[in-house]
Formats: sequence, structure tokens, C-alpha cells
Amino acid sequence: MTERLYYIDSFLTEFEARVVAVSREAGDTAVILDRSAFYPTSGGQVFDTGWLNMPGTSDLQGFRVKDVAENEQTGDVLHIVEGGAEDLQPGAVVRGTIDTDRRRDHMQQHSGQHVLSAAFEKLYGFATVSFHMGDESCTIDLASDAISAEQLESVEKLANQVIADDRPVEIRFATPDEARAMGVRKVPATERDRLRLIDIGDFDLNACGGTHVRSTGQIGAILLRKTEKVKQGVRVEFVCGLRAVRTARRDFETLTETAAVFSTHIWEVPQQVRKSLDEIKSAQKAQHHLLEEVAGLQAEHLLQAAQNRGAYKLVVQFFPDRDLTYIKMLAQKLTRNGTAIALLGCGGPQPSLVFGQTAGLGNDMGALMKQTVQQLGTRGGGNRDMAQGGAPDQTSAEQALLQAAAAALR
Ligand SMILES: [Zn+2]
Repeated sequence: MTERLYYIDSFLTEFEARVVAVSREAGDTAVILDRSAFYPTSGGQVFDTGWLNMPGTSDLQGFRVKDVAENEQTGDVLHIVEGGAEDLQPGAVVRGTIDTDRRRDHMQQHSGQHVLSAAFEKLYGFATVSFHMGDESCTIDLASDAISAEQLESVEKLANQVIADDRPVEIRFATPDEARAMGVRKVPATERDRLRLIDIGDFDLNACGGTHVRSTGQIGAILLRKTEKVKQGVRVEFVCGLRAVRTARRDFETLTETAAVFSTHIWEVPQQVRKSLDEIKSAQKAQHHLLEEVAGLQAEHLLQAAQNRGAYKLVVQFFPDRDLTYIKMLAQKLTRNGTAIALLGCGGPQPSLVFGQTAGLGNDMGALMKQTVQQLGTRGGGNRDMAQGGAPDQTSAEQALLQAAAAALR
């Protein structure tokens, strides 16, 4: 069982230890030391990175620790280093150094989580079910059906007040029974006779094996982000310390860029976006009305110029610059305002065909379209009176239209 130096001192980032066991697998080496300050992934907190060095060598000449895991059965800490690491043999003395920026970030997130969980519990009685530390942000899952924006704001305020108080954060040890008597927030179900407790001065006491700051001021700040409903309750995303500053900076830059697009202040962005959407909607409506009018007029002209085929008129027309919406509209006007068969096509980014007939005429537009798209190798269909289909390009759309007209005339 590895002696865990971070249990007593989270600020210890250099230490000496003796190699106890080594195993090599898949190009990596797992090293067990008699003592270690490296934190292995557990309890929601992710592992430390750093170096294992032979005496008299510097970090870059040593072995890079890229992952740290724990063997829960034996209590050993496994340091995963790159390559064969032949110098690391049982009995060898090594010096470990931990990447301090990463460690500090993890302490800020983890201590921040304790403050946050306690604040949710104190203000609203929402217990924390689980904690996850990600690369970008962290989350806690709370036993609650819903959390309002006001509740989030109150919790964020209280948590940041506790940070501003700069309260001491101390490590204590107790038996599970003692811990219960002390009012520990969540006593874990464990066989162990000694629990490690993190005591945040007059605010929170909780069992935890993680690395923590010395006083709440070192957390810096807590910024709550989005919430989402999950199976076990509500998930709250948050960032602490330097991450909070980084995240707020990124949010600000995104908003600033958006505000520049609208030539407005960042606080006016939602209002401007809503206004623009409204304008787009009414412009679309106006355009639709105009198109209907144009289609109506064009239908009138086409019907006047079309050849009489006994009881009905036949209109065959290709529109290189119109789209499917327009030719559908036109086909409807032609077949409803007169007695006609309309075989129409369009070019543009989505070359298409529309075949229509006045209800009651005896042809089958759906069948004609099916036959046409089969030859084109595209898709389409419809009913006896109205059908539409696609074409691979403008030229083939135009040719297919003429072929369909010839077929319809037979
Ligand atoms: Zn913890």
C-alpha cells in the first residue's frame, strides 16, 4: 500500500521515494513507489501529471508520468510512465515532481466543489450525488427535480462570499462514528476505520481523499454555468479559479464578436437577435405574398398563350432562374385558375420538375413523374393530379421535361 503524501499536504509537489514494483505492458511502464504525492484518479478528481527522476537528473531527462491510477484492493498508486523506463527497477530511489499548474487547478475545482455542494445543501437541502472534473468544466449532480435561475444565483453568491471570507480549509482524521457525531455532510459507506475529512471553517465538513487549498480565498471564484436534467436529478456545470477567468474571457469574446455583427452593445445582443428574427420572418411573409401575385399573373399569361388540346390547355415551361417553391406555386395557379396540364421545371441549386393537372382530367401525373425520375436516377412522386421530382442538373431537368411533354401528348 502506497503511503499517500498528499493526504497530509496538498502543496507538496516534490518528494523522494523508493521503487517497490515495476510492470511493463503495451509500451508503458507502471511504477509503484513506497510513498507518493501523485494523486490517482478517484472520487471525481482526475490524476496529476509530472516526472520521476533518477538522483542527479532533471525533469526533462527523467520519466514522464502521464497517468496515475489506484489499485483499490491493494491501495497501491500506479504511476504510468512512457516507454520501457529501464532505470526504474525495484529498490531504486527516485525523485517525483508534480506539475504544479495542473495540481493547483484541480485543488481550485475540488475545493470549489465542496463549497458549492455545501451551499446547495444549506440553502435548499439539495444533496450532491456525484462530482465530475472535466478538462474544460466540472459538474455536480444534485438530488433535486428542478433548480430555478434565482436558486442558482443565490447559491453562486453564497459560495463566492465563503471564498471572499478566506476561511481555513483543514484536513482532519476521524472514525466513521466520530464523523457522524461531528455532523459530516456525507459519511461514505466504508470498512475503513479512519476517514479523512476536509473541514471548511464553520461552513462544511466532508469525507474526501482529494487535494485541497489551504483557505477558501485560494479557490479564487466560482462561476455557475448551465444546468440540465439527468436521471439522478439536476446536473450543474461550474468552473472555479483561473478556469472561471478563462471561461468568462471566452464568453466575453464570443459576445463581443456577436455584438459587432449587430453593431450594438453586448447587453443588447438578445434584443437585437430577436428583432432580426422578426424582420426576417416578416420579409419572408412579404416575399411569399409577392411571389403568389407574380405566379398568378404569369399563370394568366401562360394560359392565354398555351395551345388548346381540346378540353384543356397544355403548358410546358422551363425556368432556369426560379426554384421549386415557385414552380409548385405556378403549377397550382395554372391547374386551378384554368383547365390545364402544367409540366414545369426549374434550374438553380436544386433543379426540379413539377407536373400537375386540373382535378378530373384523366392523366396520372404521379406515374409520369415516377417514369421520369427513374430515367434520371433521382427521387420523386406524388398523386394523380400533382407530382414533383428532382434532377441531377439543369440540362437533364430541361431534357426530361421535353420527354415528359412528348409522353403526355401521346
Ligand atoms: Zn471531495
